[in-house]
Amino acid sequence: MHNFPRPSTPAVSVERDPVDGVCPECGASQLASYRVLSEGGWWQVVKCQQCLACVSRSPGPLFGAYVPLSSMLQGD
Ligand SMILES: [Zn+2]
Repeated sequence: MHNFPRPSTPAVSVERDPVDGVCPECGASQLASYRVLSEGGWWQVVKCQQCLACVSRSPGPLFGAYVPLSSMLQGD
């Protein structure tokens, strides 16, 4: 009776949106945008899937979803 120790751990996958453009580090056109939990909370990052260079990083929508209404106010 053979019991194959098959690891049932699925590949960790997060939602990755392909991004147009090329990596400034390796030149690969494999940029993807996704969220990561890092210092300060969630960040929306764009990383090269080839060399994992971080192309851009901005606060994630969970903490940065505020829309300043001041743009609608026109003083003076
Ligand atoms: Zn790259």
